[in-house]
Amino acid sequence: MNPRIEGFATGLQLAFQGTVCEWLEKHVRLPHSARSVEFDRGMARFLNPILDACGDLNVRQIVVVAPTGGGKTTLLELLVPFVIAQAPGPMLIAGQTDETAKEWLESRLMPELEAIEPVRALFPKDRHAKRKTEILFPHMPLFVGGANWTNLQEKSMRYCYGDECWRWKRGMIGELKKRHHDRWNRLTILVSQGSDEDDDFHEAFVSGDQGEYGFACPDCRSWQGYRWSSVKYDEAKLPSGEWDWGTIARSVRYECVVCARAFPNTDATRRLLSDAAGYRPGNANAIEGNRSFRYPAMAVWWISWADLALEWIKAQDAKRAGDVLPLKQFIQKRLAGFWKDQEEAPHARLIGSAYSVLDYTDGQPWDGEFYRFLTVDKQRDHFWAVVRAWKADGSSRALWAGKLLTFESIRELQQRMKVKDGLTLLDAQYDTPLVYEQCARFGWTALHGSGEAGFKHYRKKGSPETRLYSTVHEARLGLGGACRYIFWANEGVKDKLSQLRSGQGHAWEVAHDIGDDYFAQIDSEVKREIVNKTTKAVAIRWVRIRPNHLWDCEAMQVAVAYMLRVLGAGAVESPSSLPASPILTAA
Ligand SMILES: [Zn+2]
Repeated sequence: MNPRIEGFATGLQLAFQGTVCEWLEKHVRLPHSARSVEFDRGMARFLNPILDACGDLNVRQIVVVAPTGGGKTTLLELLVPFVIAQAPGPMLIAGQTDETAKEWLESRLMPELEAIEPVRALFPKDRHAKRKTEILFPHMPLFVGGANWTNLQEKSMRYCYGDECWRWKRGMIGELKKRHHDRWNRLTILVSQGSDEDDDFHEAFVSGDQGEYGFACPDCRSWQGYRWSSVKYDEAKLPSGEWDWGTIARSVRYECVVCARAFPNTDATRRLLSDAAGYRPGNANAIEGNRSFRYPAMAVWWISWADLALEWIKAQDAKRAGDVLPLKQFIQKRLAGFWKDQEEAPHARLIGSAYSVLDYTDGQPWDGEFYRFLTVDKQRDHFWAVVRAWKADGSSRALWAGKLLTFESIRELQQRMKVKDGLTLLDAQYDTPLVYEQCARFGWTALHGSGEAGFKHYRKKGSPETRLYSTVHEARLGLGGACRYIFWANEGVKDKLSQLRSGQGHAWEVAHDIGDDYFAQIDSEVKREIVNKTTKAVAIRWVRIRPNHLWDCEAMQVAVAYMLRVLGAGAVESPSSLPASPILTAA
């Protein structure tokens, strides 16, 4: 039945014409809130679009991945009174266990509902209609309980709300959704911290539009998703070798991925960023009516970035000692991310995006494109190459990947794909003189992957900065030619590539039909602990487990993106306030 008719049948006044948030602002008080008693839209902005989506009759499913301490319970406590007073229908709230659900209904929800005038007026007169696990309003029943077979059977619901689904047994989300009995106005809402990749909750999230929470930098106006990699700190240690927690905590800041402006870790700054924040969908192929939202703890202004940084450092220490659980918890509970068990840092299974290499066979531009690089890995008698287009905000799209046989075929690909000479880059680690000669001939740039952690860049003012790439060198060849070459830091660049591949960084797209070689080779390196035979020192290094040429080509792409500053500042140590100074001629 149409909700307005359902309401009409029970004599309910559904006259309110505004959004869910507007109604909440008018009527709701939150007696348990530590921050604000009245509902205030400026308080937890990441909840507003979710609440408004709950009032949209075109939406059938809402999935929210949220950090612990980030307002998950508040979301439910805001939604329930709205449903009761403005969009009624049978509602089932499935929490973790019957006990926790009962406790929540009694101690939190009931006092809240009784304090909201339009809801109190609707309370059943019969006191037996209020029980430990249900309230039978005259116009709708409200049930709460654990996510178990008993609670998820029989009843027919307009609203099914699943809470902390990461703990649910496989199949329970499906059971919950069956309770809708295919009502036209059904709404499933699933809210949880991050779970394991490929579980039911993750699948539900992926089926939606995957709204990612981000903000526009107050300085350069660039929109960016909140990223853990943007939280920077000084890795300070005491003379004893222990972490210097005080110094680390004081150094924590958040850095804009575009202009590298560092925002200090204060309540005021975190709120300032949150005031300019919102969701951007990350999946153009969402199932119609499925919305999904994800925000990490960095976006929750009342959570200090320093607390997060300390947790992160401890989790990294634990991982080095062989215990990966703290890192998993950090990713799921703090970053609201999905975890995949692996022998290396978590990364998502790479799936192609919804575009084709055929869209770019003649070098067609990508909308908003800023740079296009062709990177080439040289083997003994053939080459592997990747063409990738980059936007100024660091997002990128692979347009071509494959094998080539001669320098002339590299040239042919470069011209067909409309890549500039200087932005065609060849790995010169092997056959260096020959690669240099060909680079000089065509105006290409030579690259050398290096085991160095970084390279010093001297500035007019201040101390030198260490970056993931060297300054430009020039080799004079016989016959008057010259070749430009640059070193890049293997470990740091591959860490970044791994982050991009895992979906934890800027949008990093791969055409769905880019080819099997690509998908096989892009997963070709893992991080492993390597013991130095002489010094016995342990280091974590990227190690090849199968042919890795296209992975190397993508690493070179990342290195060049740093050089041209489409990917942050590429600084290894100190925060950078350098103006952009492209070191490659984009001629
Ligand atoms: Zn900025």
